Amino acid sequence: MSQCESPAPVSRVWNESFCLSVVAPVYNEAEGIAGFVAEVRERLAALEQPGRCELVLVNDGSTDGSGELLDRLAAEFPGEIRVVHLARNFGHGPAVAAGLDHAEGDVVILMDADYQDDPAAFAPLLEKWREGFDVVYVERASRQENPVSRGIFWLFYRVFDWIADTKSPMDAGNFGLMDRRVVAQLTQLPERNRYLPGLRAWVGFRQTGVSVPRRARYDSSTRVGLRGLWTLGMNAVFSFSYVPLFVFRIAGVSSIALSMVLVLYALGNKLMGHDLGASSSILIATSFLGGINLFGVGLLGEYIARIYDEVKCRPVYVVDRVAEKPKED
Ligand code: UDP
Ligand code: MG
Repeated sequence: MSQCESPAPVSRVWNESFCLSVVAPVYNEAEGIAGFVAEVRERLAALEQPGRCELVLVNDGSTDGSGELLDRLAAEFPGEIRVVHLARNFGHGPAVAAGLDHAEGDVVILMDADYQDDPAAFAPLLEKWREGFDVVYVERASRQENPVSRGIFWLFYRVFDWIADTKSPMDAGNFGLMDRRVVAQLTQLPERNRYLPGLRAWVGFRQTGVSVPRRARYDSSTRVGLRGLWTLGMNAVFSFSYVPLFVFRIAGVSSIALSMVLVLYALGNKLMGHDLGASSSILIATSFLGGINLFGVGLLGEYIARIYDEVKCRPVYVVDRVAEKPKED
C-alpha cells in the first residue's frame, strides 16, 4: 500500500505556530456548501491540534449563488475561511492550483467539496504526517459511482500505471495531505495541463497512503462531467507517458513489414505466372498506410497541442478577488 513504510525522522512543527490548510474547489455547490463547511470545521476541531486551521475555498465561477454563500461563511467565521473567487469557471484543475497558491499552511489537505471525500480521514492523514511522511494520499477503498464508471476508473488507473513513466498510486485521486515542501514544489511547476496525482508522485519525498471509502455525492450530479474526466485522462496520459508515440512507431514498423510481405507475395505470384489484380492490392496497401499516417498525425498533434499550451504561458487561472475576515483579537 505504501511506497515507504518507515521514513527517516524529520522535524514536525506541532505547536501554536502550526497551521493546517484545507483546500477545496467549489463550482455550483450552493445546496451542499454550508453542510460541507460545517462538517469540515467539526472534524478540524476534533483534531485538537495546537495551532490554527484555515479553509481555502475556491469559487470556480459558480453561477448558482455559491459565491455569495461563501462570502457569508467567510464573514461568519473570521480568520478561518479564505474564499478565492476566480474570474470565471476555469475547471477543477485550475481551481485546485489557485487553492494551493492561496494556502498558507505547513500542511495542506486537498479535497472536493461535494461530500465524496470524507473528512474523517483528517486524523489518520495527520498521524502519518507526524510520523514523517510528506505526502499521504487517500486510496479509495470503495466507490459509490455506478458500475460502468467504477469499471472505467479501475481500468484507467491500471492502464495508466502500465504506461506512465512516473508511478502514481492506484485508485488515488486528489484527496490527500501534502507537506509545505511538496506544495512549494507543485506551485512552482510551470506546467499548464496538470494531472495532480501524477505531479504529486513526481515530486517525490516520503509518500504513503491511507485507505478510506469514497462517499456518495450529495446530489448525484457531477460538475466535472464526462468531458472534464476525458481531459483529465488525456492530461495524465500525454503528460506522463510516451507510450502512445511508441505504439505508433511499432504500428508504422509493422505496416512497413506487412507491405514488404505483400510485395514478396505479389512477386512470387508473378513469377509463378498468376497475375494479382493490381488495383485491389494497391487499394488495400494505400488505405492501410493512410490510416496509420492519420493516426500518427493525430497522436503527434496531442503532444504538439500541449507544447503550444506551455509555450503560450497563459496563467492557469485569473483571480477576481479574495474574501477573508481577519480574526478580531
Ligand atoms: N469543480 C470545480 N470546477 C469545475 C468542476 C468541478 O471547482 O469546473 C469542483 C466541484 O465543485 C467539486 C470538485 O471540483 O468540489 C469535484 O467535482 P465533481 O464532484 O463534479 O467531480 P467528480 O467527483 O464527478 O469527478
Ligand atoms: Mg465528486
